Amino acid sequence: MNISHFSQINPPARLLMGPGPINVDPRVLRAMSSQLIGQYDPVMTNYMNEVMELYRGIFLTKNHWTLLINGTSRAGIEAILLSTIRPNDKVLVLVFGRFGHLLCEIARRCRATVYSIEAPWGKVFIPDQVEDAIKCIKPRLLLTVQGDTSTTMLQPLIEIGIICKKHNVLFYTDATASVGGNTLKTDEWGLDAVSAGMQKCLSGPSGTSPITLSSQIEEIIRKRKCVEAGIRTALHQDGEDEVIYSNYFDLGMVMDYWGPERLNHHTEATTALFGARECARILLQEGIDNSIARHHLHGTALLKGIQGMGLKIFGDLRHKMNNVLGVIIPNGINGDQVRQLMLEDFGIEIGTSFGQLHGKIWRIGTMGYNARKDCVMQTLTALEAVLNHKGFQIVQGVAMQAAWDYYRSQVCINV
Ligand SMILES: *Cc1c(COP(=O)(O)O)cnc(C)c1O
Repeated sequence: MNISHFSQINPPARLLMGPGPINVDPRVLRAMSSQLIGQYDPVMTNYMNEVMELYRGIFLTKNHWTLLINGTSRAGIEAILLSTIRPNDKVLVLVFGRFGHLLCEIARRCRATVYSIEAPWGKVFIPDQVEDAIKCIKPRLLLTVQGDTSTTMLQPLIEIGIICKKHNVLFYTDATASVGGNTLKTDEWGLDAVSAGMQKCLSGPSGTSPITLSSQIEEIIRKRKCVEAGIRTALHQDGEDEVIYSNYFDLGMVMDYWGPERLNHHTEATTALFGARECARILLQEGIDNSIARHHLHGTALLKGIQGMGLKIFGDLRHKMNNVLGVIIPNGINGDQVRQLMLEDFGIEIGTSFGQLHGKIWRIGTMGYNARKDCVMQTLTALEAVLNHKGFQIVQGVAMQAAWDYYRSQVCINV
């Protein structure tokens, strides 16, 4: 091996306008370049307590157990589902995009009996559909994504929370892509567990998953303490299998580590925690409502610009997330070629799509640090130029003008 062939890491400057990850706020990068301290240093345990408090502010909850799982967003999903679902529990999943299928898959791996209802891509569920399914299936848990970036749809949760309470069903949501850019009220909406990630509206790098757990969920987890000697094979007297089939994601052990006992579990990923703490601090300093308004403003400006150049938007606009837009690729245009030119000649990344939408839409994000006017204008300019270059005729400048007109109409909002 000739080590001189390996250059120092020095990635090109990119503007990340896809559905995540996005450019990290420089303040978060600075926090993450701090030196390490020991995991039981009082300064570190104090940071951990502060993180719990900060994320209660983000999730709008009084839940004591609000902490970080080290791993990407799906680590938070797995920790909650593995620790909460017992084998043969009936679980109902609302599927309106790719991440709903992920919830089904993980719940199956937890050996749940999984039922799902599906909404066509580009649409969300109405409360009656959910209540009918609950009456019929009688699940112990209902799982749903809040904002699914694969379809850009945002599922309203408030009525579903009421329905779950009424039928005594535990209610979990994956808010990875929505929190910080769209309203999420954990306590007010009756959510028992929520998980998130950093790389969408929180302006951080992937690799940390903040979660919050109600006291009811805590009680369930506490009853399932893992046997020290390893995996218990026999079922408990009442027939319930109590073992959580993971050490890393055993939330009982994670709580004992984050709680006053400070029982050793994993080594908290210090650098990631510094980043997650800074993301929350920045967001709360801006104010959650201001952050949501900012995502709405720039998300709408992008939409106006895209419509201004004559392109069509995917999905039910009444239920679109503030922070990501599905743009229908016009006939005769090769979506991948456009993305390639955007990247090579402008340094701008926009998203492709999965499954049934593959090759049909681009997904453009305006989230976190990149929910800004300059990012919107640059993206519109580049896309308009590339489309013209590829033979889709647009009057030069109409997209920018439409966005400018929208911004001007919103001057009362502090941009
Ligand atoms: C982007 C996204 C994720 C990302 O999961 P990772 O494990 O961080 O890659 C999860 N859930 C939803 C709804 C998302 O939009």
